[in-house]
Amino acid sequence: MRINRRIRLGAGSIALLLAIAAAMGCGGSERRGALEHAAAGRLTIGIKFDQPGLGLRNKDGSFSGFDVEVAKYVAGVLGVQPDGITFVESPTAQRETLVQNGQVDFIVASYSITEQRKDRVAFAGPYYVAGQSLLVRADNTDISGPDGLRGKKVCSAKGSTSAQNIEKNFPDTQIHTFDTYSLCLEGLRSGGWDAVTTDDLILAGYAAQSAGAFKLVGRPFSTENYGIGMKKGDKALRVEVNNAIEKMIMDGTWKRVFDATFSPSGYQAPTPPSVDWY
Ligand code: GLU
Repeated sequence: MRINRRIRLGAGSIALLLAIAAAMGCGGSERRGALEHAAAGRLTIGIKFDQPGLGLRNKDGSFSGFDVEVAKYVAGVLGVQPDGITFVESPTAQRETLVQNGQVDFIVASYSITEQRKDRVAFAGPYYVAGQSLLVRADNTDISGPDGLRGKKVCSAKGSTSAQNIEKNFPDTQIHTFDTYSLCLEGLRSGGWDAVTTDDLILAGYAAQSAGAFKLVGRPFSTENYGIGMKKGDKALRVEVNNAIEKMIMDGTWKRVFDATFSPSGYQAPTPPSVDWY
């Protein structure tokens, strides 16, 4: 008897869920685009969860950082309130797949626009220009730039432009890669790695949180144009997101948000880039 009742309840619940899903426009086999999701007041946005200053999931479950603010601003222009956003962690090497599979509507996650990535995703932006740099222990004296990496052990993230650059252009350096940069930090602290390499902005966030344990060295040695990654072929979305980025820069929000997130790490807001309307 008890089992029967449970089964009936289960079937009833499924019917109810299907009815709700149909009413919300989720029915059918067709996968709807980001603009339709936005029109329904909801967006799923990929960010980093472990990059303080850029994309961070805080202990209380809230999200903070420049990328998070860019994501919220763009969502707002598309008509979506912050409580309509679901943030999804998007580690470096998984970003193209998350976009292609429709698991996110778009990605704002220190995501460099590259020709190789453009084979799989489209990019709005750029909304920021970063550069590859090096994080070392505060007492390190023998690494002051990429030329000091000969014979050294360097840690970075799988699939990143930073790791690719070391592999290609610094063959005498041992590069070790993990899913995220935060996984490199313990090894840097304990002496397993001599340096962590990725964009200056990301490293500045880690340095600011390290209570003086780490420092950034040298000048940036690459150009990383941060774009908002999205499905290839969704031209309408690209236009809307590019407009939103331009608006954020023009109305002063871009600088205000950058100053609020990065001035504690001693970073001045640079001149914002111009959006590429390719
Ligand atoms: N901007 C570089 C990239 O997209 C490094 C930062 C990251 O991995 O998110 O590969």
